[in-house]
Amino acid sequence: MQDETLLMMPGPVPMPQRVRMAMARQAINHRGPEFGECLKDINRMLKPMFGTENDCLIISGSGTAAMEASVANFCAKKKMACLVNGKFGERLYQIGKMYGSEAIELSSEWGTPLPLDRLEAELEEGAEAVTLVHNETSAAIKNPAEAVGRLCKKHNALFIMDGITSIAGDEVLADKWGADVVVLGSQKCLAAPAGLSAVSASEKAWENLSEWRPYYLDLKKYKKSAEKDQTPYTPAVPLFFAMREACRIVEEEGLSNRIARHKNLADAVRAAASAWGLELFPVTDALHSYSNTATAICYPEGIKDSEFRGLIKKAGIECSGGQDHLKDIIFRIGTMGATGTPEVLAVLGAAEKAFRQLGYEPAGSGVEAAEKVLNI
Ligand SMILES: *Cc1c(COP(=O)(O)O)cnc(C)c1O
Repeated sequence: MQDETLLMMPGPVPMPQRVRMAMARQAINHRGPEFGECLKDINRMLKPMFGTENDCLIISGSGTAAMEASVANFCAKKKMACLVNGKFGERLYQIGKMYGSEAIELSSEWGTPLPLDRLEAELEEGAEAVTLVHNETSAAIKNPAEAVGRLCKKHNALFIMDGITSIAGDEVLADKWGADVVVLGSQKCLAAPAGLSAVSASEKAWENLSEWRPYYLDLKKYKKSAEKDQTPYTPAVPLFFAMREACRIVEEEGLSNRIARHKNLADAVRAAASAWGLELFPVTDALHSYSNTATAICYPEGIKDSEFRGLIKKAGIECSGGQDHLKDIIFRIGTMGATGTPEVLAVLGAAEKAFRQLGYEPAGSGVEAAEKVLNI
């Protein structure tokens, strides 16, 4: 009996039972001590995942709310340089255009190395803030946060980093890298329900707080309320309880174990692609690497995305296609959160079968290649 679809997408991801159960609660007063404890717990547990000593402010809104809050509060009327090699980098650039005095798009083809030489030139020309997506989910490429942080430090620019699909699944060292403002989304590697996001901000970021700020997403209000263990407006309370439970699971597993597990699962999917005789989509170099939380695989000639993923869906599993111009070019398998060996083998098995049904004979068995990596 199949009563739910296995999500093997780069978010949202399946939630452990404990996380789901944490939401099944009577309403509470969000100005009382119980919610306060919950907020404090989440902040304490998120910090090591961000690699920061700074406080993490929680917003009732998906990852994009935290992206917009970061740019609006800390970059308003600033000259911004936005690194773009995928959909989410582009989103930060769009937000930058709305709030910055100027936003310069420093782009490369989706999934290819970013033009860091152009970034250096823009910083020399006076760019005051830089945006980067650490793990660009749309193309499954991991971007060089540390190198970007070094450039920002050298030129005293503010570094805004989207860590939405790296935090809690891959190594993020915000303080060490000099990432001033870092954002997380709940439904990705944390395996919490969708609808919450978090922002951490450095001393330098707060010194750069814009005079002009949005109303609902005014982070100064979030900071002030956090000092009383509250949020400025009514929070999505059940989601906070679930997020706390998801953070506890990360603590119990141990962050380094969790990161190693994510890497192993992504390695297994990459090994399967290679055994099938298919190319991985990202173009890597010394600074850019494959994502450890999502994998983008190029379709063989003649496979239609809707047919391929339709067959996988029939097997009870959902993975993702390519976004925008990458539709029919790539498909993406997310290996985030609580995902483990059985889920990875299931999606690879379904994909292998779908390829055959659609007339593509894989060069070898992806499932067997993955099993070797997974050590089973
Ligand atoms: C999912 C995601 C987001 C945020 O998307 P929401 O739909 O607002 O949660 C932002 N950046 C990256 C890299 C993502 O993967």
